[in-house]
Amino acid sequence: MHIVMAASEAVPFAKTGGLADVCGTLPKQFAARGHHCSLFLPGYRRAIHSGLPVEDTHVSFVVDMAGKQVASRILKIPMHDGAVTVYLVDQPHYFDRENLYGDEHGDFKDNAERFCFFCRSVVEAIERLRLHVDIIHCHDWQTGLIPAYLKTGFGQKQWYQHAASVLTIHNLAYQGRYWSHDMNLTAMDWKYFNWQQMEFFGDLNLLKTGIAFSDFITTVSPSYAREIQTPEHGCGLDGLLRSKQAKLAGIVNGVDYNLWDPRHDKNIAQNYGFETWKEGKALCKLDLQTKLGLPVDPNVPVIGLIGRLAEQKGWDLVKPLLENSIECIPAQWVILGNGEPRFSDAIGSLASRYPNRLAVRFEFSEPLAHKIEAGSDMFLMPSRYEPCGLNQLYSLRFGTVPLVHATGGLIDTVADADQSPEVATGFSFQDYSLDGIRECVQKAMNTYSHEPERWSTLVERGMQQDWSWSSSAALYESVYSRAREQAAIEGRL
Ligand code: ADP
Repeated sequence: MHIVMAASEAVPFAKTGGLADVCGTLPKQFAARGHHCSLFLPGYRRAIHSGLPVEDTHVSFVVDMAGKQVASRILKIPMHDGAVTVYLVDQPHYFDRENLYGDEHGDFKDNAERFCFFCRSVVEAIERLRLHVDIIHCHDWQTGLIPAYLKTGFGQKQWYQHAASVLTIHNLAYQGRYWSHDMNLTAMDWKYFNWQQMEFFGDLNLLKTGIAFSDFITTVSPSYAREIQTPEHGCGLDGLLRSKQAKLAGIVNGVDYNLWDPRHDKNIAQNYGFETWKEGKALCKLDLQTKLGLPVDPNVPVIGLIGRLAEQKGWDLVKPLLENSIECIPAQWVILGNGEPRFSDAIGSLASRYPNRLAVRFEFSEPLAHKIEAGSDMFLMPSRYEPCGLNQLYSLRFGTVPLVHATGGLIDTVADADQSPEVATGFSFQDYSLDGIRECVQKAMNTYSHEPERWSTLVERGMQQDWSWSSSAALYESVYSRAREQAAIEGRL
């Protein structure tokens, strides 16, 4: 099969979150399973200058963006012995910027235009590159227009005749919602601007567009797939998603163990595996404490947190938890994140008051993320909602016991010590409240301090689990077959 993916980020080219991990790894998996895979990305500055050799495809064209003629040039980077080809849509005015989506002033004002241009370029480039496409797999709102172009025959491309589309929702809260006049940037007929397709309370909604037009929809865990069909988690799209129930599935993200495994991780002070975790983690903890200026103490438990400083990730619980309890919980806290100043300001000032208890870094640092996974004893992930979550999966492999809010992908990947003692790998709390999180942390602290054997069982069980991509990649293959069946039923294949 030739699988073509389109996404707004992928490692090692551009990353702000889990989407990049997924879109960087899945093509490799498909290549290993005998498929050919192409990946389209915007030609961001950091993608073009990633250090990998970029070739010109000599395919370039002009896209009419609501009357403005904008040039598009397609570059390519062959990877994995040619089994994966990464195509970059080069347009310096849109993509030659330091950041992907915004800067200190907020989201870029022209994001609708940038990503409509990206989608328009992808469908045109596929045609001009003469790619035979069996599946076009789109990710999140930035690519939501592509299934609409395919289904409506926009621009009458040859490749539509062989292709079915799949849309993966990585986070339903980000919908690409813009004012109605941006419909002109899509170049779609205004007849599609209706409440069942592209319109959402008077606005253009690019994620809704993708949901409405794709042949199959996935999201990144079975629990989140159920949750988004409810008014509580449906972000206004639950009705549409319920109507698509028969073609909606949840597939848990996998981990790229080439990058996230303490046995061969180059970022950490000491490599270790299942048999050597006690000595290995002790050295990594010492290294982490030293690097972050915390008192070096092998006995004090270290609790790590990594993630965007956004309410979704549970910082509105972490902040009062630390404010109220940092003195009475005998632990060291290590926090890595960037995002909303209301959280960094509050947490930063606590760190200056309690330098022996709390170390913070407000930046995006891959090497430090690995050191925290290795050097912490516990990893706290109290997300208000969580489509899948990757850090709890990394934590399991690193022998760092996850403490999670029981929501979305966290339910599907972490088994609670009390509720399922036979298979437990961590601790979870049901009630999203200060009491809920405090009780969960206390339970974990008690087990760590007073029940070392039970603790070791949790660590070792987690480390032995396999969350690699193999089973998820197989599930995607069956989704691709179902998408093609769906397209055939509709007479398009
Ligand atoms: P998200 O909702 O942000 O996509 P995920 O848990 O799915 O959350 O994935 C987040 C990814 O981004 C993980 O690989 C995590 O390690 C990484 N990450 C998040 N914030 C930072 C940061 N400040 N520095 C380094 N890595 C980070």
